[in-house]
Amino acid sequence: MSRTWNFAAGPAAIPEPVLRQAQTERLEWRDARASVMEISHRGKAFMALAAETERDLRALADIPAHYRVLFLQGGATLQFALLAMNLAAPGQHADYVLSGHWSEKAAREAAPYVDVRIAADARSNGYSALPPRADWRLHDDAAYLHYTPNETIHGLEFRDVPEAGQVPLVADMSSSILSEPLPVQRFGMIYAGAQKNIGPAGLTLVIVREDLLARAQRPMAGILRYAEQAAHESMLNTPNTFGWYLAGLTFKWIAAQGGLPAMAARNRRKADTLYAAIDGSGGFYRNPVDAAARSRMNVPFFLHDARLDTVFLRESEQAGLLALKGHRALGGLRASLYNALPQEGVEALVAFMRAFQQRHG
Ligand SMILES: *Cc1c(COP(=O)(O)O)cnc(C)c1O
Repeated sequence: MSRTWNFAAGPAAIPEPVLRQAQTERLEWRDARASVMEISHRGKAFMALAAETERDLRALADIPAHYRVLFLQGGATLQFALLAMNLAAPGQHADYVLSGHWSEKAAREAAPYVDVRIAADARSNGYSALPPRADWRLHDDAAYLHYTPNETIHGLEFRDVPEAGQVPLVADMSSSILSEPLPVQRFGMIYAGAQKNIGPAGLTLVIVREDLLARAQRPMAGILRYAEQAAHESMLNTPNTFGWYLAGLTFKWIAAQGGLPAMAARNRRKADTLYAAIDGSGGFYRNPVDAAARSRMNVPFFLHDARLDTVFLRESEQAGLLALKGHRALGGLRASLYNALPQEGVEALVAFMRAFQQRHG
């Protein structure tokens, strides 16, 4: 058995050089004489690693000094609730744009803590296109405007950052963070579970504009309060030290590849290669998403005959192409093309798809 091309949606592929370095350092990390998993998060060595990781991320994404970076737990799902608790006063409302499964869930989970107003939604077209900007009903007095730049399941992506005026823009970037340059100053808050483009599951990144930390006025435990986490360098309690470490290795790997502009170019090319194969298949394969909204990260696609799905999945796995099964909400197939998946992997997928069509078309 050997490692092979992994198209998993999350937890997802991690760059191989990162895994190799982690393997080399598994028993002894730097001069700790122990693994990074076995040392105190409050010791000098780990504190230095934590600070270094934040510095590397700040350099990579050009994060301005008036934004705080938090390394939390609980996934993006916990942030659905925490961001409402922290950014909105009780009784205040917030605008939500629904573009697929995850933005729906974000709105639902925030609802106990903020008056959720659906500013726009694309449910009526089955999330095959983004809601037209002209139809968004935005409120100047909203606590924030929430959207999901990349919908991991439906395979839709915003090409640019929506204009929110004075209202802080909040984005769930779980499946697109660090895949292209990040205009942080356009946002009030960005959050992402790590398990797609950053590292292993169990770590959650929050980037939040400092002035927004003062908004959390309702009673809540310290662990839920961004200001408290920021004041304690995300170490109010024991953090996910191993996840933090692997994220740090991934940030260095991205920088060594040429940073976010290089990632953007690679990701564009990978997505173009796959969409061209789908569109050029004469209807054998089909991606239902409006061409202007197609995701570079997650490509759902369907065979002209769904009865072939099982054969496709079995044969693709035999060919070394892993995890191409579509999300259960949509069925069909899905290829996730995160940073860690190289062009070669996409070429292998496309070659397999052509051969499969010849055999079964
Ligand atoms: C995966 C994903 C989530 C869920 O993340 P958890 O870390 O499992 O809570 C939320 N939003 C988006 C856009 C995702 O891709």
